[in-house]
Amino acid sequence: MSTVPDAPVEQAAAMHEYVPSLWYEAASSSGIISGSMRQMLERQLRDMQLNSSIVHVLLVEETIMEEGLVQACVQLRLTDEEQNALNLEDVVDVVIEEKTELCMVGRLLTRKPYNLNNMKNALISAWRLARGFNIRDVGDNLFICEFFSKADRGRILREGPWHFDKQIILFEELNGNMQPNNLMLDRCPVWVRIYDLPLNCRGTAAVGKIGAKIGRIIERDDEEGKGWNMYCRIRVLIDTTKPLMRGTKVINLLGEHCWISFKYERIQNFCYWCGLLDHMEVECEDKPETTEVSEWPYGPGLRATPRKRKMM
Ligand SMILES: [Zn+2]
Repeated sequence: MSTVPDAPVEQAAAMHEYVPSLWYEAASSSGIISGSMRQMLERQLRDMQLNSSIVHVLLVEETIMEEGLVQACVQLRLTDEEQNALNLEDVVDVVIEEKTELCMVGRLLTRKPYNLNNMKNALISAWRLARGFNIRDVGDNLFICEFFSKADRGRILREGPWHFDKQIILFEELNGNMQPNNLMLDRCPVWVRIYDLPLNCRGTAAVGKIGAKIGRIIERDDEEGKGWNMYCRIRVLIDTTKPLMRGTKVINLLGEHCWISFKYERIQNFCYWCGLLDHMEVECEDKPETTEVSEWPYGPGLRATPRKRKMM
């Protein structure tokens, strides 16, 4: 007879030691995990590359170890045959593997259903690619765009974010090892403008330090630090599961607390109540029914006006 741990927490923990992703899938589809908890777990699973102990800690801390969850875990106890892993190394599809360099995966950041064909048509006119591209559904609000040259893909990724119906489309380079069910696209590259920096803190180091607070820095402005400007500019990967940062407090050389503000380039819809990018205030689940617009914590001021294109 096999020994079954007594405490529900231990029991569940022992289970997702084996298959955190399977466990997670079952638990979330059974509705035990929902909302922000689900998003947090998804992020953790990805960031920690399915490190089950982290998930365990999270679960215990959030005390969501309910009966149903334990049940979901127990149901996922693998048989010896299932546990015996099959190595796919010698059967990797070489053609597909080469194709991945021309592809990217995408997800429309929205809570509403949408039509993929309409989105494709919108992208055709926005991208204006001489050789076109293909788009395929691969999962629940998850699609793959395939280009005919690496240069096309590079340009599209560089010039984002792109929108459909004013909602951001999240894109990421395709990696052959990705599995649609484990793929959580939630980061978005955005040029952020930093306003009102103290005049002695506008160099690369200062802008880098502030940029790193907003997200992972992926590109810097060539003109940065070359003179006085209205604002400094940096491209960062922002976490779309969090509200847009309106700015940050900083402490200057005199020890004084000051406020510096941010604006985001090429951002369209976002919620003026909670600051999230996947919906507008009319669809906001957190917004009380009666509020004055003047009470809304966010507003159109977070959108940066487009920069004039440089003359070629
Ligand atoms: Zn909202």
